[in-house]
Amino acid sequence: MAEAVTTRAALLPAAGTPLRVVELDLAPPGPGEVRVRLHASGVCSDDLNAIDGSVEIPCPVVPGHEGAGVVEEIGVGVRGLAVGDHVALSWAPYCGSCEQCLRDLPHLCGTAWPLMLAGGMLDGTTRLSFGGAVVHHYCFLSSFAERAVVPERSCVRIPAEVPFEIAALVGCAVTSGVGAVWRTAGVRPDERVAVFGLGGTGMSAILGAVVAGASDIVAVDVLPERLEHARAAGATATVVFDGAPEDAAEAVVAASGGGVDYAFESRGRPAAVRAAFLSTRARGAVVMMGVPRGDAEISLPAITIPRMERRVLGSIYGSSRPDRDFPEILNLYLRGRLPLERLISHRMPLDQADDAVAAVRSGEATRAVLKLA
Ligand SMILES: [Zn+2]
Ligand SMILES: [Zn+2]
Repeated sequence: MAEAVTTRAALLPAAGTPLRVVELDLAPPGPGEVRVRLHASGVCSDDLNAIDGSVEIPCPVVPGHEGAGVVEEIGVGVRGLAVGDHVALSWAPYCGSCEQCLRDLPHLCGTAWPLMLAGGMLDGTTRLSFGGAVVHHYCFLSSFAERAVVPERSCVRIPAEVPFEIAALVGCAVTSGVGAVWRTAGVRPDERVAVFGLGGTGMSAILGAVVAGASDIVAVDVLPERLEHARAAGATATVVFDGAPEDAAEAVVAASGGGVDYAFESRGRPAAVRAAFLSTRARGAVVMMGVPRGDAEISLPAITIPRMERRVLGSIYGSSRPDRDFPEILNLYLRGRLPLERLISHRMPLDQADDAVAAVRSGEATRAVLKLA
């Protein structure tokens, strides 16, 4: 009979307050769930949005949606996993029977999304608690913790030789970035690309564009050191974004010989989305990978949409299928074609979760990883 355990975790009591590392109670995995001993968790800008309160989520909550570890307990009815399996975690489990799932769009599952935003598991209840009070889950994962109960469908088995810190990043940043290039846009050899915002997702888009054979890869950011980093990873030109969308776009158009086919934006900032849109050539598309604030609006020169056949594409989780895409990404990593270790700039223990979040917020970190075991 499965028993409840405790786990150390970084708890967010309320939006806008510091994370507190505490011992939480963790109920046993329910039907179709497993408990994972986490080894690593990335800190993503979506965690920042939740922690800062720019996106509203139920609190108290344990943030973190980019984790990897080892299965240590399985719930009733779990068929595809065994204790001891190494897994990377997907924050997009799916029901398999709603309209979007039947359209082969499981990452847009109409059943899982509302439940995820409500802060519970797929049955609407939580496994986490603190002194008897409910603690919410974040994206079904809550990976700022040593242990997590997660849906079986959030687990993708990975080869034992893959480092957990790499597998963790594949759980969000990498898949969002390379997926936007490979799946949402479908960049083909010799197409031109620009990437706005060079955190974990943006840098992953650069690496994905290299693999796709893009002829021009223009990296754009406000921080010069990030541009250097992007150049070392394969960017062919760099542009400093000084806040004026028209200026940045003009520089990208010049650097790419007349505009790009796809301009990827990683933070959901309206000014950067406008700059990315203006950087495209005829038939080009801005690809919005970043999630804007709930009240954000974007201003674009509408006439160029028909006249130049410019497009705006949304991309969530890189339009990916984790079951298919995590193994493909990790296979390229193991063969040395996708140097994902370049994304990790900071490694910190769970006790420094707040510092890790601060390093991502300031832009100092491409990706900060919490080492959990
Ligand atoms: Zn994320
Ligand atoms: Zn569904």
